[in-house]
Amino acid sequence: MAASRNETVRHLVATAPITRDVVTRFVAGETTESAVQAVRTLNLPVTLDYLGEDTEDKAQAEKTVQAYLELLDALHAAKLARNAEVSVKLSAVGQALDESLALTNASRICAAAEQCGTTVTLDMEDHTTTDSTLRVLDELRRTWPWVGAVLQSYLHRTLEDCERLAKAGSRVRLVKGAYAEPPDVAIQDPHEVDLNYVRCANVLLAGEGYPMFATHDPRLIDIIGERARWYDKTEFEHQMLYGVRPDEQRRLGARVYVPYGEQWYGYLMRRLAERPANVTFFLRSLVSR
Ligand code: FAD
Repeated sequence: MAASRNETVRHLVATAPITRDVVTRFVAGETTESAVQAVRTLNLPVTLDYLGEDTEDKAQAEKTVQAYLELLDALHAAKLARNAEVSVKLSAVGQALDESLALTNASRICAAAEQCGTTVTLDMEDHTTTDSTLRVLDELRRTWPWVGAVLQSYLHRTLEDCERLAKAGSRVRLVKGAYAEPPDVAIQDPHEVDLNYVRCANVLLAGEGYPMFATHDPRLIDIIGERARWYDKTEFEHQMLYGVRPDEQRRLGARVYVPYGEQWYGYLMRRLAERPANVTFFLRSLVSR
């Protein structure tokens, strides 16, 4: 996890003779065309993420907005927009500079998504941004009630956030959480994180919103299936990351989170940190050229 924010390691990996396979297993490519092509090939519902985060530069935030507008145009032109929504990190559109800039930029993306007949989900980042992201969500939902948000079961606060958001019209993606967080804000024991995931899933399934269960965990996927039957809830979906458990994605008809763009480094490092098998795959590719 530390490597995802370490400049020296970033330089090493970016300049290493890394094989294309490693990056393309988890990232659809660097361009809009490669993202559109991945959507075509997958033939599943998707949510697309233009990679980039922690922008402290207005011009970079603008570049991110333009990338999303170009993507939405391209999806619309390819008649793929109905099943392809976008995921946006507010830090990539200026949240660290000014919350109102992030709100304005996210609004531009939502307006374009509406024109294409699709939706937007706000990714959730580290805990210092949670309140701000939920404030921006509330503002956006005044105009676009379909804007979705992500809640992380490792945060102590999340059960309450689920209760507040499990309302008609709301779309909530439930994840375990991908950032290294301190014990005063986040549960540290992975088993307890799973138990909280189930508690949160119960609240979302019992509510009137549209839950999106984003996990690759086979036990949680089984439990969600059972609980959905118990609550007689049919309006929900599974979501998984591009390149992870593709057979299971097809079996479940899951929505696939498809990242693309030049700034793939931080994202790739988080995927490697999550699973030792991924690191082995990555290291092998470095020595097998
Ligand atoms: P883990 O605890 O990582 O794994 C549990 C089990 O799942 C493993 O034991 C294994 O059986 C199976 N599994 C996991 N990975 C693999 C693999 N590569 N191959 C085979 N089996 C595997 N996090 C955020 O903080 N903010 C976000 O906005 C966000 N958005 C996300 C969107 C989507 C669609 C998804 C799927 C994840 C998102 N995440 C986000 C990441 C999330 O928080 C987790 O870090 C990530 O999903 C890994 O957790 P897991 O639930 O898959 O379970």
